[in-house]
Amino acid sequence: MICPLALSQVQKIDGYWGRYLDELSSKGILSQWDQIVSTGRLENFYRVARGESGTHEGLRFNDSDLYKWLEGAIYVQKLRPNPKIAEVIETSIKAIEVAQAEDGYLFTLVQLNKPNFKWRNLVNMHEMYCLGHLFEAAVALKQELNDDRLMAVSIKAFNHIASIYGPDKKPGFCGHPEIELALYRMTEATSDKRFAEFADWMIDIRGHRPSPFEAEIEDPETKDYFRAANNLILKDGKYDGKYAQDDKPIREQTVIVGHSVRAAYLYAAAALSAARRNDKELLGAIETIWNNLTERRMYITGGIGSTGDNEGFTDDYDLPNLNAYAETCAGIALAMWGRRMFEATGQSDYLDVAERVTLNGVLSGVSQDTTLYYYDNPLESRKTHGRAPWFLCACCPPNVARFVGSIVQYNLWESDATVYIGSPIDGEFRLSCGLTLKMETKYPLDGVVKISFTGKSSRPVKLSIRIPEWSDEVNVDFPESSEGAEYEGGFMVFNHHWTSSTTLTIDFEMNPKMHKAHPHVIDNVGRLAVSYGPTIYCSESLELESAPQLKVFDLAEELRETGQKAIDGSPVFQASALLEPVSPYTELYREFSDEDPMAGTINFIPYRTWNAKGPSFMQVWLRHN
Ligand SMILES: [Zn+2]
Repeated sequence: MICPLALSQVQKIDGYWGRYLDELSSKGILSQWDQIVSTGRLENFYRVARGESGTHEGLRFNDSDLYKWLEGAIYVQKLRPNPKIAEVIETSIKAIEVAQAEDGYLFTLVQLNKPNFKWRNLVNMHEMYCLGHLFEAAVALKQELNDDRLMAVSIKAFNHIASIYGPDKKPGFCGHPEIELALYRMTEATSDKRFAEFADWMIDIRGHRPSPFEAEIEDPETKDYFRAANNLILKDGKYDGKYAQDDKPIREQTVIVGHSVRAAYLYAAAALSAARRNDKELLGAIETIWNNLTERRMYITGGIGSTGDNEGFTDDYDLPNLNAYAETCAGIALAMWGRRMFEATGQSDYLDVAERVTLNGVLSGVSQDTTLYYYDNPLESRKTHGRAPWFLCACCPPNVARFVGSIVQYNLWESDATVYIGSPIDGEFRLSCGLTLKMETKYPLDGVVKISFTGKSSRPVKLSIRIPEWSDEVNVDFPESSEGAEYEGGFMVFNHHWTSSTTLTIDFEMNPKMHKAHPHVIDNVGRLAVSYGPTIYCSESLELESAPQLKVFDLAEELRETGQKAIDGSPVFQASALLEPVSPYTELYREFSDEDPMAGTINFIPYRTWNAKGPSFMQVWLRHN
């Protein structure tokens, strides 16, 4: 079993991720809390507790924002304690406790406003989705802060669900997967297998016909209320199941379809299910879907979901830049899925994708100070896109907080005999063998990581370090050992008796590279994108006159470092470019005659840092000559 390190094993995190944790602790978590309070999300819980009815503030699934925020706040509080965060964590726990109904039910919209809709519309209502986020917050609270209060609320809610749905009761699963992942974590946190078995059942019954959703959609009492939601689900007036990955059983699915966050949450859970049941058929199916996604439907930034129409997938190679959806949550969900695939298979290529999306398609979704967010992450902008502190549908901001807060779990794992490093994190980590692993690194700003240990190991331990897909040259300095590394599953594996005097320095050499897309990605024909190590770059300008859209990459000269740093400390690169002359033209159209382009330059900064000064002209894929 490959298990991620618990946050309690983190002695400290500094460096690149440490700065994000500092910002979340001092600003991001509390600014999100202010939004949760000022938008009435918290008050909905108090209203339920006071026995009110007839009023509910915001969207029907707003409870999930409080739960998801709470999970993130707990991680950040664990790693960067702040008395103000402790206070609001306490406030939110109490609000949740008092809102739960006697029978275990908890969903403030139905409790306040739609009592006759209780468990009537799993496809649209999001009751289980919201409870899934509550369960994850409860796991975080129990595991990181030794507090069982929300686990008690969660078990009561689960018992309520299991009194209605189950193998010998009604079939039932949520239109928006999430509770499945949460249930596996509940089992992990409590050792009670009932939760995981229930999730296995939900994964297995999904996609069969008749779907329980078909009758729900036709329910005359709820039909009007869900008209807009049903329009997303129905294709030509009929239910085909694709939007919610309910078109066929997962074991028979081969192509990724529908809503991208739902899909990636579902398959992340299915990977856990396959691993715990040793179910090769299920794992094989998810691998096929994964390959369809990563070989034909994923942006170079790791972003997924090509259109806002269904917040999800369209066709193979349909990856428009300007209108890319690539929701921040979908990026996080993909990192979750990649992590679970690695845990199930031990193969590093899943972590290559997780790293790609983490450092590009997810971190682009949050400002450097962690107070502004993108919902969608297009790969081109014409001064039309800006980050915002919050959204009416605010799934992304708290998702970023819980993801960054638990970043160690996406990069460090242990099994009986091995410690795995996905991507280096500057910090110190207590291993279960008794050693403390220390990594000193600026990663991802450069590729050097110095590894050392303190303490004594109770048993021999292998150190497995992922060789990133982008890395051509790896330099290893291991003065204590004359033996080289072995290679396994995309990792270099060092088998050594680690002591306090051991140092191992690895340099994954980073060089700027240029990339082409498959010619069927029509938007990118004749264009190149730039990367440096794991970081995808873009070009940006606040003014139309110097917009990257007006420039053509001149391939006659190589990319060069400017010596300047981007706002996150990454190197800025420059290339020669040919510029579309703007002046002296004033006509909208003119007859073409030979015009000499002007020589100029084009600068590249990390895509994740764009829009630091407000809306701009931006492109990831640039025309070349
Ligand atoms: Zn979102």
